[in-house]
Amino acid sequence: MQGPDESEIVERETIDLYDIALLLNYERASSEPRFRNSKLREVATHEFDFRSVMIKTPLWTAHKGPKDGFIFQRIKRAIPGSDEEPDLPSNILSPQVMSSLARDITQLAPSRLETIYWQARGHDGCFKSVAILQYFLDLYAINPLLRIRLANGREYVTSSSPTNLSIVEYDLLVVKHLTLAVVLPDNQTYITGSSDQPRFRHAVVSFESHPYNGDNEIILDMASMQFGETGRGPGRKGKSTFVLESVGDYKKRLLTVAGGFEKAKVSSRITPDPNQANEAWMWKVAKKAKERWEKRGEHHWCGHCGRPLATGPALKRCSRCRQAYYCDEEHQKMAWSSHHKSWCRPA
Ligand SMILES: [Zn+2]
Ligand SMILES: [Zn+2]
Repeated sequence: MQGPDESEIVERETIDLYDIALLLNYERASSEPRFRNSKLREVATHEFDFRSVMIKTPLWTAHKGPKDGFIFQRIKRAIPGSDEEPDLPSNILSPQVMSSLARDITQLAPSRLETIYWQARGHDGCFKSVAILQYFLDLYAINPLLRIRLANGREYVTSSSPTNLSIVEYDLLVVKHLTLAVVLPDNQTYITGSSDQPRFRHAVVSFESHPYNGDNEIILDMASMQFGETGRGPGRKGKSTFVLESVGDYKKRLLTVAGGFEKAKVSSRITPDPNQANEAWMWKVAKKAKERWEKRGEHHWCGHCGRPLATGPALKRCSRCRQAYYCDEEHQKMAWSSHHKSWCRPA
């Protein structure tokens, strides 16, 4: 006769959704194949058109409202192997590609370059980021528990099983802001919010939270900055590059992005990308993020941008809780006002 098998008792892991979103976003954006090794060459707005290139699409020229246009140029790395260098807001400028015809982009503030970085990479980024989160959860043999910490100091623990997590697709009815990103030399053009897309599909992840206090649904939108500065979160005063907030707050945010919205679809799984190379890349991103999460005790990352930080005397950490680490003072300030001030406890 067999007795109970002790090895069948497995403790469920708890993962922090805010940290996971930070890592997934960092790994996704810094290796995005469409923008890989491309540097910012020129920026245009509704006030200043492009100078170094002619954009012939009427979607750009005829658009009357606010708009942002970005020209990126792919560079060839001189040193073999340096292809591994991640693409980041901090290395988005390169003298190699700047055009003397264009306005000076070296004067743009780091936070503006960060917005441009996410706004361009956010194109179609919602489906990718949702799929990558799904793959990340698939890497666990048993659905982990999710710790959800909101910017307002509320905390929930919920299951990541399909009954608690759903993918919600909203149709945004006329996005207010037009974004055009061109990657040279292959001339790939990515447009968000143009007049030929009166219904713009946007996917987010929705989590069941605490059923007793009204905030029964929490939204995670990792591609919120596709719509520019207005996509910063989490919460209303956030300076972070993604959104994690109650569905009520999220709906108010959507009304700043578009004239209206409709909930178009709810599902438990995103259809895989027919492009095999894309699928392979998304799995790689999910695995990298999981590796980093598991090594969180030894390898720290910036609490604002998710960049891995080298350990050593130069490592900057929050002097109060001694548990949060940052690239620099600016990223510390942005993380503080967005999220950390509600979660920092004296050590
Ligand atoms: Zn940082
Ligand atoms: Zn702290």
